Amino acid sequence: MTDKTCEHIDAVDKVIPAKARECETCVKIGSTWLHLRTCQTCGVTLCCDSSPNRHASKHAQSAHHPVIASAEPGERWLYCYPDEAFAEY
Ligand SMILES: [Zn+2]
Ligand SMILES: [Zn+2]
Ligand SMILES: [Zn+2]
Repeated sequence: MTDKTCEHIDAVDKVIPAKARECETCVKIGSTWLHLRTCQTCGVTLCCDSSPNRHASKHAQSAHHPVIASAEPGERWLYCYPDEAFAEY
């Protein structure tokens, strides 16, 4: 990962935290996840690309919400899907 940033990450001035420590979509379908990510456009918390269902990246593509934050304890970083940009905060 690089420290390259983008206009989407630059536009985030207050990081939206996870409302609940679960993937909303996995809970609905009775699936499981590995790590959690929170969409910085709408605040939904979904599962990462290492999870079987990859709900966070599917959401980013279908809803055109570019930036997610890690919802894992102790992790403070943002990631932009279209720009593949990563930033710690
Ligand atoms: Zn971007
Ligand atoms: Zn999920
Ligand atoms: Zn979203």
